[in-house]
Amino acid sequence: MIMKFVPFAVLAVPAFVAAHGNDHARLYARQATSSAPAATGTPPATVSFSLPTTNPTAVPLASITSGTPVLPPLSVTTTYAAGAQPTFLSNAPPLPDLSKVLPANYPALDKVPPTDSPQVQQWIQDVANSGITIPNITATVAGGCPANPQAAADTSRCWWTCGGCTRDDDITTCPDKLHWGLTHDDGPSPFTPNLLAYLQQANLHTTFFVVGSRAISYPTLLVEEYMAQHQLGVHTWSHPDLTTLTNEQIIAEFGWTKKVIKDITGVTPTHFRPPFGDVDDRVRAIAKAMNLETVIWTRISPTATFDTGDFNVAGGTTSPSQVLANWEQIMGNATTISTGFIVLEHDLFQQTVELATGYILPAALANNPALTIQPVITCLHKDFGDAYIETNNNSTNPLPVTASGSGSSGSSQSASGTNSGSGAQATGGSGKSSAARVSVDNLLSGVVTGGVAIVAGLSALL
Ligand SMILES: [Zn+2]
Repeated sequence: MIMKFVPFAVLAVPAFVAAHGNDHARLYARQATSSAPAATGTPPATVSFSLPTTNPTAVPLASITSGTPVLPPLSVTTTYAAGAQPTFLSNAPPLPDLSKVLPANYPALDKVPPTDSPQVQQWIQDVANSGITIPNITATVAGGCPANPQAAADTSRCWWTCGGCTRDDDITTCPDKLHWGLTHDDGPSPFTPNLLAYLQQANLHTTFFVVGSRAISYPTLLVEEYMAQHQLGVHTWSHPDLTTLTNEQIIAEFGWTKKVIKDITGVTPTHFRPPFGDVDDRVRAIAKAMNLETVIWTRISPTATFDTGDFNVAGGTTSPSQVLANWEQIMGNATTISTGFIVLEHDLFQQTVELATGYILPAALANNPALTIQPVITCLHKDFGDAYIETNNNSTNPLPVTASGSGSSGSSQSASGTNSGSGAQATGGSGKSSAARVSVDNLLSGVVTGGVAIVAGLSALL
């Protein structure tokens, strides 16, 4: 397969910019509560940083601004025929016919999907039949920790946003020291091909946490990600704060994103990342009932979260040099922990991709000590096929829920790895609960679990 890149003729940018308009406003507000300079609309002054190397073709930092594009986005022109068989995954279904993936058959973009559709009603029933109990935790209100003091103080709900609480099943690190579980969120976008081109050249693979609304906007890019052997994960349909939604809305967010990824690629992810890391035990349980494992990012203290802050460059509230200083800090912290790590980065904006391909990834490849850079599924020592329900190895990696609808009753299902239509859960597996899954127990959980002493200032860092 030969890949050629040509400039995009037309940029369909407004949709995803609009989708995250509120993000900017909120992150802007968060920054105002941090120790960083007050958010006045002016990015912080240039800060110093040190990188072992940069890409000779990198866009100069001074040109990475919240303004107009500097480099044209690339369009991958490889086309994969409907029915083409992915050869890198055993039991992968053939590629679907994209001409049948019609936006009219999906919810409105960038809005929480309605819950009264037959499809969502079916998923609600599937969750009810899963055998997994959804804890009765009240939804939060918009505004994060300061707006929810009672919820923030309630350690029983294990709300990551306010205190960094994690459960054993949360994936927040890679188990092996200096292994980096590479992730990029919020795409695909018109700039994703620039990242794909770099990753191919550098022989790197990432995990893309995909927004369903972006997948329906850029289906061919999603196929490119998949066929280039990057891992696809769920990042919800409309990128909400999940803890603010009802159970039914959360199910709709997960269900439609799983469905659109399957409709476009033929496979259904087994992992998800909560937007903003906004997850509590209710969201965790619903995710598990829909066969989605929770992936956040590494956080070793209230002031040491492995977040590059790249998302804020496009909005003008963070400078590129601050992102690279954050990266340098992350690298320093990575050497102090006994596990590997997972970092928050994005492929939604030109600026985030330029920072990744021009600076962060070249520096990471030249890092001393050397890093092992892998998709999350690989850094967890799992088969790559375990990234998807259809190709999951049910004997070595039992899914939380089997098609029989029980998460704990055992099962006589075959391990065929097949999948019924309609968004149903996978077949096969032992029916064992998540306790049998690969442990990525966070040795730092004692430090970061359940802390509520932070609240106001910390929210700025998440
Ligand atoms: Zn996101």
